[in-house]
Amino acid sequence: MIYHKILVIGGGLAGLRAAIESAPKVDTAIISQVHPVRSHSGAAQGGVNASLANNPQAADDNWEKHGFDTIKGSDYLADQDAAELMTKEAPGCIYEIEHWGCPFSRTDEGKIAQRPFGGAGYPRTCYATDKTGMYMLHTLWEVSVKMGIPLYEDRVLVDLVLDGDTCRGVICWNLKTGEIEPFMAEAVIFASGGSGQIYGRSTNALISSGSALAAAYKRGVPLKDMEFIQFHPTSLFGTNILMTEGARGEGGYLINSLGERFMSKYAPKAMELGPRDIVSRSIQTEINEGRGIDGKDYVYLDLRHLGREKILERLPGIRDLAINFVGVDPIEKPVPIQPGQHYTMGGLDTDVKGATKFKGLYAAGECACVSVHGANRLGGNSLLDTVVFGKLSGRAAVEYVQGKKDAKQGEAAMNKCMRETKAKIEELLSRNGPENHADIRAEMKETMIKKVGIYRDKKLMEEALAKIKELQERYGRITVQNKGKAYNVDLIRAIEMEGMLDVAEAIIVGALKREESRGAHSRLDFKERDDAKFLKHTVATYSPSGPVITYSPVTLGKYKPEARRY
Ligand SMILES: Cc1cc2nc3c(=O)[nH]c(=O)nc-3n(C[C@H](O)[C@H](O)[C@H](O)COP(=O)(O)OP(=O)(O)OC[C@H]3O[C@@H](n4cnc5c(N)ncnc54)[C@H](O)[C@@H]3O)c2cc1C
Repeated sequence: MIYHKILVIGGGLAGLRAAIESAPKVDTAIISQVHPVRSHSGAAQGGVNASLANNPQAADDNWEKHGFDTIKGSDYLADQDAAELMTKEAPGCIYEIEHWGCPFSRTDEGKIAQRPFGGAGYPRTCYATDKTGMYMLHTLWEVSVKMGIPLYEDRVLVDLVLDGDTCRGVICWNLKTGEIEPFMAEAVIFASGGSGQIYGRSTNALISSGSALAAAYKRGVPLKDMEFIQFHPTSLFGTNILMTEGARGEGGYLINSLGERFMSKYAPKAMELGPRDIVSRSIQTEINEGRGIDGKDYVYLDLRHLGREKILERLPGIRDLAINFVGVDPIEKPVPIQPGQHYTMGGLDTDVKGATKFKGLYAAGECACVSVHGANRLGGNSLLDTVVFGKLSGRAAVEYVQGKKDAKQGEAAMNKCMRETKAKIEELLSRNGPENHADIRAEMKETMIKKVGIYRDKKLMEEALAKIKELQERYGRITVQNKGKAYNVDLIRAIEMEGMLDVAEAIIVGALKREESRGAHSRLDFKERDDAKFLKHTVATYSPSGPVITYSPVTLGKYKPEARRY
């Protein structure tokens, strides 16, 4: 049995930051399905928020203003103590990563450059051209290498070992050897990223399946606020590759088939820099009402007026993507875009230190719900969330492990879980039914984007729920064609599929029960926000017949929920 005091699941920004915090104090290792620098964090483009006040237009910015913007942006569902903790920690975390060598873009005086982003009163998004996530990820990866933190890559977490109320470790599938491996630990930090691949039209990488989160959910770790799915306003039509919010931050326009900057109708002050839920709905409304370009499902992102020089300096990655994937050079032509699934606001239910309700089990980054993003995350706050709560969860895990007296307990629980995993995989490989898990995945993705998308109502969501139930039943009759050992992606996709259906179900049931519109959850049959009934977090707990939904209070603070105007 492999043993480390702390195991971090995931080598993205949250996982690396957590491991960097704990490794100097307590033996720590990272487990990751893909090499850390291939984590989805590396795809982040636009930037990371911190109230550094470097931009002349933001000279009086401070963490409290950032906190208020975050809470208002969340449609008041964020826990105010958590949001304020994140915005207070932000400048320190950004300078720390700068000092570790992250090559942020610079102002003329050599300070970290900051650009405007949606839902923020100030230009406070620090960036490294339009590849911020990649630069941050490589920086943290290099720090982890320098520290000599052990890495188990090509390992897929397939189960979480809980022993009563205590976490004992995880079970992984070794992609290289095709063996099941037990990893025992005193504390486990989940940093396994988002679940975007449950949806069609997602900007997320294939790795963002939510498989690790699903394994924890199935073992009884509650999921919080899963119905809140973010749709990014601007993904490339046809591929849904992201066109960063930075493009609008730099001054890009959104244009309909009549040539109008239609955001003037929906967010007259903020225009294209309204929060993402509002801008996505506005684009979808234009499309639904027939003002998409040529009557199709897209509008234009127009950058031409920014000029060649600014586009080449600030948005070179966006330009390359538009040229390579739709044959459009944004210097000369407007880019066809539509909203795409982008971010999972909900996740494993944690407190502000990343602790779940199980002893020794923590979560940080996109797989966690602390909650700082509430019903709608602001652009640039997720990269921030990963480094702040990665650090804090690493710290909390160290304190827990150092205070623990009974190391290396739980062998029986580990062995039991190993046997169960083995039997489960053998059973899966022995199935010989007519169904194909790739078809089931495609139908799930189509159902989620069409019926639990930007606009929702009871009838559509009930249809979606029935479909997910049907897919769960069909999943019992799949055949995994590849019976081999090394790099059996067929098998991994099949294992993921079961968990993705469970999480899809939790999203839908939470959304059906939330009879109001708040942030990204927009119901045509309940158009208003209903604070009296629904200013509360949805908590979904797994049961074989479907999620059991309960609610927990939102931590309020100095800001009273008001109507959002932008
Ligand atoms: C295209 C794109 C652009 C974005 N741009 C921005 C931006 O400009 N600003 C911003 O703030 N946010 C942005 N975001 C959001 C932000 O990038 C992510 O929310 C954040 O990077 C997630 O980091 P993470 O560490 O939680 O997870 P990830 O970076 O997704 O890493 C997850 C890790 O978990 C591992 N893993 C997953 N499942 C398993 C398993 N079963 N077993 C073992 N390992 C597993 C993976 O190998 C990976 O290492 C963007 C997102 C996308 C998709």
